[in-house]
Amino acid sequence: MSDVKMKKKDLEYFQILINDKRKVLLGEINDSKEKADEILKESSSNAIYSSHMADASSDHVELEKAYYMIARNKKFLNYLDKALLMIEDSTFGICEECNIIISKARLEEVPHTKKCFDCKSNR
Ligand SMILES: [Zn+2]
Repeated sequence: MSDVKMKKKDLEYFQILINDKRKVLLGEINDSKEKADEILKESSSNAIYSSHMADASSDHVELEKAYYMIARNKKFLNYLDKALLMIEDSTFGICEECNIIISKARLEEVPHTKKCFDCKSNR
């Protein structure tokens, strides 16, 4: 361990940024869920009349897409939660290999990263 830490001001900046990203993700997860529910509802009413084979398969694709988005966004959400924990214990933004402060541009792109661009690229 070293004493390298991000400035408090920077940590706060990223905390706000990450919380904003979380809100967007949560909104998107909700939208996808609503969409999936709608498709399920519609396809079950279609099934009663059982004459919409083409619709049923495009519903299926749409449903898969919605579930995929939910899973993907939940994964991102998980990353953001990890980043928030790192902010709390002040390990956020420090490369775990070379102990330098990771560039802001990279952190804005990948807030949960634990490696600077050079260490990541050297693998
Ligand atoms: Zn590094």
